[in-house]
Amino acid sequence: MTRPTDLNDTLFQRARRVIPGGVNSPVRAFQAVGGTPRFVQRAQGAYFWDANGKRHIDYIGSWGPMILGHGHPAVVEAVQQALLDGFSFGAPTEREVQLAEEIIRYVPSMEMVRLVSSGTEAGMSAIRLARGATGRSKIIKFNGCYHGHADSLLVKAGSGLATFGHATSAGVPPEVVQHTLVLEYNDVAQLEEAFALHGDNLACVIMEPIAGNMNFVRASVPFMQRARELCTLHGALLILDEVMTGFRVALGGAQSVYAQQIPGFAPDITVLGKVIGGGMPLAAFGGKRAVMEQLAPLGPVYQAGTLSGNPVATACGLATLAQVSQPGFYDRLAGSTRALTAGLAGAAKEAGVDFCADSEGGMFGFFLLPELPQNYPAVMETDRERFNALFHGLLDRGVYIAPALYEAGFVSAAHSAADIEETVAAARAAFAALGRK
Ligand code: PMP
Repeated sequence: MTRPTDLNDTLFQRARRVIPGGVNSPVRAFQAVGGTPRFVQRAQGAYFWDANGKRHIDYIGSWGPMILGHGHPAVVEAVQQALLDGFSFGAPTEREVQLAEEIIRYVPSMEMVRLVSSGTEAGMSAIRLARGATGRSKIIKFNGCYHGHADSLLVKAGSGLATFGHATSAGVPPEVVQHTLVLEYNDVAQLEEAFALHGDNLACVIMEPIAGNMNFVRASVPFMQRARELCTLHGALLILDEVMTGFRVALGGAQSVYAQQIPGFAPDITVLGKVIGGGMPLAAFGGKRAVMEQLAPLGPVYQAGTLSGNPVATACGLATLAQVSQPGFYDRLAGSTRALTAGLAGAAKEAGVDFCADSEGGMFGFFLLPELPQNYPAVMETDRERFNALFHGLLDRGVYIAPALYEAGFVSAAHSAADIEETVAAARAAFAALGRK
């Protein structure tokens, strides 16, 4: 019997001839886990169908934006209406103003906001703004946090606190990263030492408040509090990169979660993306009025974009925010997410597999480790072979999680209790195949 043609394979072969690695963003290539990426044909609600027509329960949701699930009717309608009025004008529109007003309403630390088209652009612009506003060059980022692929942020730690980072990508000259200091996440002592050495030359500290690019690792409350205090003390700006967590973990983002535990807590600049565009290319950065007024055309910090504030993307974002701001939305979403992680934990326990998980709102992470890691080296202690086996065990059973152990997962409002039960049943079988450890 000949094997039926796998249309994902066929497409991947075609793709690799014309697109480097066959993909337009590296993690999609399944390089970490092996095998053939699934080419998506269409998606609806909590599911997508691949090139073979096979259905998958989707826990990636475009890496975060699809918080309502795919093809939410109100969002589809808003996008269709907007399209009829024109795709792009390169001139201001009312919808941009509305979206800025909505963002500011829910994230009050952002007194003004500028819209851009990707998280990378937003992060890069936020760093330039922080440097322009402070007149300083040096920045701190944390190992395992990702803020897009701007040159100065593609950096790994140097050999000590006095040495600045090394580029993690070819094509980034050392001069470009010489001002970037990379520290370990959740290490208060190291942060204090870095400020003691460089505090007066620091423009900003940028961090993911809940890091979703090393699976799911929360900034501890003391770490976040100390970062805020040190920035204030030394006149550096605290930038929270909430591209992933913004409107995902809570209506007010992760900063609203920390503000419950740290009185008066707020960042100076916030970076948003993903959910605020509802799946369209849209991102934003914003903060204190005095800082934002440093931007062109008001101030000396240049920043621009042909498609910035795109009318179709803003319609999609506004329709998405209208849904997530309904009373009870995040409580229901958090309930579904917790049901998933609890179900997975139960299945792992039955199989005798080391497992732990955490979640906030509609974002989760799980680890094949006995306890939750606090930083990137600890995340990377996960046994890759076992993670990869689990990934494929789930994928074969129609459950699509991130194809790398250092990525977070996302539950949408479209994931039903039955979807979660189906997922847990698949996990039970996948864990059993994995064997004890
Ligand atoms: N910051 C964070 C926290 C992210 O997770 C990402 C993308 N996953 C980015 C920035 C970059 O966003 P984009 O891919 O839209 O450029």
